[in-house]
Amino acid sequence: MQPWATTPVPRTPGTPRPLRLFDTASQEVRPTAPGRTAGLYVCGITPYDATHLGHAATYLTFDLVNRVWRDNGIDVTYVQNVTDVDDPLLERAERDGEDWVVLGLRETALFREDMEALRVLPPAHFVGAVEAVPEVVEVVAKLLADGAAYRADDPEYPDIYFDHLATGRFGYESNYDEVTMGTLFAERGGDPDRPGKRHPLDALLWRAARPGEPAWDTELGRGRPGWHVECSAIALNRLGMGFDVQGGGSDLVFPHHEFSAAHAEALTGEHPFARHYCHTGMIGLDGEKMSKSKGNLVFVSRLRADGVDSRAVRLALLAEHYRSDRSWTADLLAEAEARLDRWRRAVALDAGPGAGDTLDRVRTYLSDDLDTPAAFAALDSWAAEAAAGAGDDRDAPGLVATAVDALLGVDLRA
Ligand code: ZN
Repeated sequence: MQPWATTPVPRTPGTPRPLRLFDTASQEVRPTAPGRTAGLYVCGITPYDATHLGHAATYLTFDLVNRVWRDNGIDVTYVQNVTDVDDPLLERAERDGEDWVVLGLRETALFREDMEALRVLPPAHFVGAVEAVPEVVEVVAKLLADGAAYRADDPEYPDIYFDHLATGRFGYESNYDEVTMGTLFAERGGDPDRPGKRHPLDALLWRAARPGEPAWDTELGRGRPGWHVECSAIALNRLGMGFDVQGGGSDLVFPHHEFSAAHAEALTGEHPFARHYCHTGMIGLDGEKMSKSKGNLVFVSRLRADGVDSRAVRLALLAEHYRSDRSWTADLLAEAEARLDRWRRAVALDAGPGAGDTLDRVRTYLSDDLDTPAAFAALDSWAAEAAAGAGDDRDAPGLVATAVDALLGVDLRA
């Protein structure tokens, strides 16, 4: 698929700081990307609805990862999928009497617009599940041949399942116990009660064709891909095993990331799939969980249509730490708008306090597991001093604007 348009990233003077991130598998903040190149895979949308603020917060977080790595001179390969054939998309199309392909294309187009407006740097590979069907078939066929996968005992619908014990290290990514895994598996798209499976926790790799559902004729028989294996195949074929970061919302810790890792590890016999598994907190609305069942999703496109500055959306979603569950409120947006206004005024001044120390602090905080609240506070201090007329460094406003553009993705001069 065509990704969205990119924006140039200026170089920031001073000394970059290597990025450390919290890894869900090891439960600690560890150094990332030791080499000159880095691979980033962030799980993409299922395009049955517009981009909500939870999605946006996730892609903005990993945009910071991308930007901090680039600041360190690392050549980043960013890969993102689009789950453009899966149950939620088909169910929504059915409910609305719409063609699932048309629905998927429309919502993917809107997602691109939202990402561009939020100034998220685009992936090098933006890959739909539909276009990746041959890649998934290849993975599933090998897992079957190796005995890591099996057909359900169901002559009518011989779906293919992954034996979750195939690698001997299932659970290492999420660190959840079996009871928690069972609960989350049932809640998040799994089918523990499906007859014909060997174990309730085994995950679907290939779904045999049902009447009225889209399906492809392949060596596995007529059917369509499961969800987790889509990410295993797309990531493996573009980044290889042991890539640097797999990212997503905290609702992907299990089963999605556990299985995408297990599939790839069973396939290759290598470990790990990703060196870091990173997860972003959930965004609620006014203290409540934001969900499609509650009908309280706030969409990026709606905010844009209402004339909200996308830069303020960006600052609002990054104002608290990415791993914390947090709430979208009118106050949060108003504070971000005020901050944007203060920063813009400060960088428009002819002079300000020297920026070197501020830039160094911003880099230090971002490199420490993306501590945006501390980075924002450092910039607030500089802006307040500049506004008060402190300092006569004529380069400082330009330097701060460049750093905020490059590292935080906000163009204060637009
Ligand atoms: Zn994924």
